[in-house]
Amino acid sequence: MAETVHTSNTATLQKYLQLPQRGQVIAEYVWIDASGGTRSKCKTLPSVPASIKDLPEWNFDGSSTGQAPGDNSDVYLRPVAMFPDPFRLGDNILVMCETWMSDGKPNSYNFRHDAALLMKAHSKEEFWFGLEQEYTLLDPSGWPYGWPKGGFPAPQGPYYCGNGTGKVFCRDIVESHYKACLYAKINISGTNAEVMPAQWEYQVGPCTGIDLGDQLWMSRFLLHRVAEDFGVKVTFAPKPIPGDWNGAGLHTNVSTAAMRADGGMKAIEKAMESLAKRHVEHMKVYGEGNEARMTGAHETASYDKFSWGIANRGASVRVNRAVAEEGKGYFEDRRPASNGDPYQITGMIVETLCGKVDG
Ligand code: ADP
Ligand code: MN
Ligand code: MN
Ligand code: MN
Ligand code: MN
Repeated sequence: MAETVHTSNTATLQKYLQLPQRGQVIAEYVWIDASGGTRSKCKTLPSVPASIKDLPEWNFDGSSTGQAPGDNSDVYLRPVAMFPDPFRLGDNILVMCETWMSDGKPNSYNFRHDAALLMKAHSKEEFWFGLEQEYTLLDPSGWPYGWPKGGFPAPQGPYYCGNGTGKVFCRDIVESHYKACLYAKINISGTNAEVMPAQWEYQVGPCTGIDLGDQLWMSRFLLHRVAEDFGVKVTFAPKPIPGDWNGAGLHTNVSTAAMRADGGMKAIEKAMESLAKRHVEHMKVYGEGNEARMTGAHETASYDKFSWGIANRGASVRVNRAVAEEGKGYFEDRRPASNGDPYQITGMIVETLCGKVDG
């Protein structure tokens, strides 16, 4: 089916975006749906909220998002983090929300709740996380942007961190998203073109505890919204194109206060022992379709077996050379797929390294 793409008339939109709001604030409530996508709807607030506590609870029709049955469709939105809105500017905000049911239980797709309990229980460990979000941009027909229609570009090699026409596609989207994240006070630490053409990466972090999940989810929302302005699609699929094309990951960099302190390598080695014992549990929450990506080729490890090594991009976990030389720092769990849920991933890591918490 042919698809009609409507790219907005930005000059006209600009005229309306500049209209004063008479002291009122627009809050865009964002949540995670049943398929790992983001949804949002907005609400007018009478004045500027001083903190998250000033934001009212809200709800949506969960039967329309696959998150609740039609006969009990109300799902509640509980604000957990707010960010300056890079689209509407001014005092307007984006609000990250948890989803809750009327019986007082978290929605089945609310993975933040358990993760937040774990982070809180083990807060004295001072976990830091930095995630490398890889993604692929697609044209309206669903083929990687800039690739020949029904065909393939020249083999991988010139694209990673590339410059120049034919080597990178949609840098305008990447730049716009970067600026939007900075404006929104997301701790975005960098960006680079990836090995497969039309594939990109940005990093969020280091962030403490549950903040990483909140910020990464909001950065994904921003990416979808920015790409929408350009009429381009974003996919977080771990292996968007089968064959000799790199998959997309969500490398998860982790440290605790002990790992960052002098002699922290001991704590890192201890963490490796713990991770090795729970490989299967981790893989369950490290993204759907990850088997297709983790083939042992294309800078990935085996799907079934845990391994770690210094400077080894073919291991499940890599400790970078500088960390090994300094004897302290962090480790990089390379197993998570690009579509993994950062709440589940970081939650699982804390559980494995520090122990379960009753929720
Ligand atoms: P790579 O060399 O694997 O491509 P990147 O530079 O893309 O690594 O990403 C490294 C990530 O590690 C960044 O998001 C950064 O914020 C994060 N990071 C750096 N130091 C720490 C630390 N001590 N603990 C956790 N994350 C860290
Ligand atoms: Mn209605
Ligand atoms: Mn990277
Ligand atoms: Mn990468
Ligand atoms: Mn990496």
